[in-house]
Amino acid sequence: MRPIHIIGGGLAGSEAAWQAAYLGVPAVVHEMRPIRTTAAHRTSHLAELVCSNSFRSDDASTNAVGILHREMRALNSIVIKSADAHQVPAGGALAVDRDGFSQAVEAAVLGHPLITVERAEIAGLPPQDWDNVIIATGPLTSPVLAEAIGELTGEGALAFFDAIAPIVHRHSIDMDVAWMQSRYDKEGPTGAANAYVNCPMTRDQYGAFVDALLAAEKTEFREFEGTPYFDGCLPIEVMAERGRETLRHGPMKPFGLTNAHDPKVKPYAVVQLRQDNALGSLFNMVGFQTKLKYGEQRRIFRMIPGLEGAEFARLGGIHRNTYLNSPRLLDGRLRLRAAPRLRFAGQITGCEGYVESAAVGLIAGRLAAAERLGLTLEPPPPTTAIGALLNHITGGHIESIDAGPRSFQPMNVNFGLFPLIAEPRLDETGKRPAGPERGLARKRALSARAERDLARWIEEARQSAPFAAA
Ligand SMILES: Cc1cc2nc3c(=O)[nH]c(=O)nc-3n(C[C@H](O)[C@H](O)[C@H](O)COP(=O)(O)OP(=O)(O)OC[C@H]3O[C@@H](n4cnc5c(N)ncnc54)[C@H](O)[C@@H]3O)c2cc1C
Repeated sequence: MRPIHIIGGGLAGSEAAWQAAYLGVPAVVHEMRPIRTTAAHRTSHLAELVCSNSFRSDDASTNAVGILHREMRALNSIVIKSADAHQVPAGGALAVDRDGFSQAVEAAVLGHPLITVERAEIAGLPPQDWDNVIIATGPLTSPVLAEAIGELTGEGALAFFDAIAPIVHRHSIDMDVAWMQSRYDKEGPTGAANAYVNCPMTRDQYGAFVDALLAAEKTEFREFEGTPYFDGCLPIEVMAERGRETLRHGPMKPFGLTNAHDPKVKPYAVVQLRQDNALGSLFNMVGFQTKLKYGEQRRIFRMIPGLEGAEFARLGGIHRNTYLNSPRLLDGRLRLRAAPRLRFAGQITGCEGYVESAAVGLIAGRLAAAERLGLTLEPPPPTTAIGALLNHITGGHIESIDAGPRSFQPMNVNFGLFPLIAEPRLDETGKRPAGPERGLARKRALSARAERDLARWIEEARQSAPFAAA
């Protein structure tokens, strides 16, 4: 049988190879390290962790990444199996001894009779006779390959200093303070003139907010030479440094908006949030890209009226990243629409994080193997964590409400990506949940649904494609 070629032996590529081989399909992994390295990798090991050693929460009942762990365990993930085997104490988190972990992944991959690892950079598009390819070269994809992919997709540069604005769970916004309205009541493509959440500020509140921004602790980020700022986006704290009124004439301008709760009083400044996913459960803070430290972001952004209780699905940041505009470029099975022999996996698809990258590698490996075997494998439903992530990457994210710059941003798995579920009226003990317990009850219900639906998907996959027995 002809092999699947996997470019990149990081978290996604190693997992994809393992999954393909597990299903009986040979795989060749092309990894450029140690011949050529990246700005963040330090070793030649497959699946090296470039920064923290944490796979985050292992709580599968109330945490979305914990659910992803559970699903990957059920699907024979080599990344999670190696993490479990090399755990270090970290409370409720799954943290690992980084060397032990990556050596275990590497040993398993190298030891599998169906997997070959070739140490070489793929310096351009893969040869035409590779008919089933997974590109899993990560956020630090080598520049020549990134350039070739950019040309093929018509996207120009794929590597940016990625300026990311925070994203907030819609249910945590206080709509007794905020209101829905588009600037100048401009109608969007759907005809709606109320696409944005607006948070009003008085002059005093704005002054205090600017003071807090100026005094806040910022993260230093490593310069990656020659990489441009994405779309010229400036961090808000840099705008604040340019003048106290700069933000009020930029992302916080109050014009064209009337406070629905107090129409006679003109806000001095307004923070807008724009819908970020098709479900409408996540909203991003428009123009609020920032490199403030995470703790500072939570503290300062909760000074904004209406966001006092904000729960963040992701915080802002700036770092080099290489990723596709996947909702436009990839089909539901992660294949490039313009060249379906090329499938993408890992962070380059627009997921973020070790676990998410490996999870997308897992599903890419299975989909590629099914294709090689002439079988049809349906992707997991969006009610599962892997399905929710896949859905975000390939279609769940809305590109842009207005004609703004590309808005698809890498994202960790979170409950905002799951289809809504009716809030349980009674908890497991038969009591009506109150306060924070209500949120927990909702998360438990989402987790239970994900578990049920993944089991059903595994069973259906087993029937339609016998190899997919997990
Ligand atoms: C600086 C930095 C810090 C990060 N810190 C964290 C963190 O603390 N926690 C977290 O959860 N996530 C973090 N991430 C995000 C992300 O989870 C990791 O980058 C993760 O490793 C992505 O997995 P991947 O498999 O997509 O890519 P990688 O693990 O980077 O694997 C890609 C592989 O492809 C190889 N490669 C690249 N180009 C070529 C080519 N042309 N030919 C052959 N091989 C090639 C690379 O050498 C690499 O081994 C960080 C990202 C960066 C850039």
